[in-house]
Amino acid sequence: MKERAIQTAEILCVGTELLLGDIVNTNAAYLSRKLAELGIHVYRHTAVGDNPERLSRALEAAFREADLVITSGGLGPTYDDLTKETVAAYFGRKMVLHEESLESIRGYFARTGRVMTPNNEKQAMMPEGALVFPNHYGTAPALCLADGEEHCKTAIMLPGPPGELQPLFEEQVKPYLMSRHASVLRSKNIHIFGMGESAVESKLKELMTESRNPTVAPYCKEGEVRLRVTAEAQSEEKAEEMCDEMIRTIRNTEVGTYIYGVDVESLEHAVLLFLEKRGMTLSCAESCTGGLVAKRITDLPGSSSVFLGGCVTYSNDAKQRLLGVSPESLSQFGAVSEQVAKEMARGVRERLGSDIGVSLTGIAGPGGGSAEKPVGTVYVGISTARGEQVRRLNLSPMRSRDYIRKVSASNAFDMILHCEE
Ligand code: ATP
Repeated sequence: MKERAIQTAEILCVGTELLLGDIVNTNAAYLSRKLAELGIHVYRHTAVGDNPERLSRALEAAFREADLVITSGGLGPTYDDLTKETVAAYFGRKMVLHEESLESIRGYFARTGRVMTPNNEKQAMMPEGALVFPNHYGTAPALCLADGEEHCKTAIMLPGPPGELQPLFEEQVKPYLMSRHASVLRSKNIHIFGMGESAVESKLKELMTESRNPTVAPYCKEGEVRLRVTAEAQSEEKAEEMCDEMIRTIRNTEVGTYIYGVDVESLEHAVLLFLEKRGMTLSCAESCTGGLVAKRITDLPGSSSVFLGGCVTYSNDAKQRLLGVSPESLSQFGAVSEQVAKEMARGVRERLGSDIGVSLTGIAGPGGGSAEKPVGTVYVGISTARGEQVRRLNLSPMRSRDYIRKVSASNAFDMILHCEE
């Protein structure tokens, strides 16, 4: 029979444990990711208990919209494992003994030295006409039933344990689905710093709302915005090309100057690549961030080729003694000031002999703010052979200490990426 391509899917997880909150539904997340890679659109996730009537109703509802329903769980040998029987009844199929499965279950028990009980034989009973995927990682084989005109209704049943479900999917289900589905999805992430989510959205409104393939969707996290560009095409190469073209279009908009990378791990990773490429070195002087810049850069393997070191100078005394900040600047402008940020950056750069020095001095809160310099006021300085520059941040005083420190450190990284302009 000619088979129609699978376009849409529902993931239907079976198990009372899921509804009681005893286990987290990681199978649904895993299967969603995998189906997205294959270009199959997942319309819905459902979880039902070990109850045949409710499972049957859930199946009916799922097939009203989806070509494919993938179930997880309920394939085991016990009385409450009812997925196969319920799906068979829905498709109007009888349960018959599948000799090969029985042999392989016997083999599994012999190999693992365990005693097979009669109810393990139940696992070798399959709906008539099922395509069986042998399970080399456990006892319950996975299976597929397809029905309707051009096999447009397809149910794939997988065992619940992720250690069985995942390799079964990779090794057997994925190739089967690839043979039934013609296109692939490819996503790329554009990383943006220095422009908020609403500003990005307003600059790219038309692209985001009107573009269907590729699609462009924004996500934001701790002062950063990420745009996920997803293209669907007949081949991986074509989908990749379509993503790249959309990325070029976005680079040519006002958002372009705020893009620090595509598919990079983080801002600090972009900084590492930037410094490596230019053979430049970095040092840092930190007050309010307490070493966070140094930590984030040294979290990356390979940072020793670009990062020389840093000073955590919290007190005025430390700023003077370790960095050479002048006592006059401290008394005239205060420790949280443009002048002190400049002197800190220059001081650390000169003392450690790096190409770039960055500095941070600010009020991370919750206490310590004033009318002129409220919590969230941070000066980020950068020093190079060409001189010093300082950025004043006015972050919301309602933000947590942790957020203020993280975003301040991110600004230092961002200034490094723009230091040649
Ligand atoms: P088995 O042959 O092991 O009995 P099964 O298909 O009957 O397999 P279940 O009994 O439903 O699977 O679940 C077995 C275990 O698999 C659960 O206790 C849980 O640890 C894990 N599991 C089941 N469903 C999920 C899920 N949706 N997400 C993550 N883990 C799950």
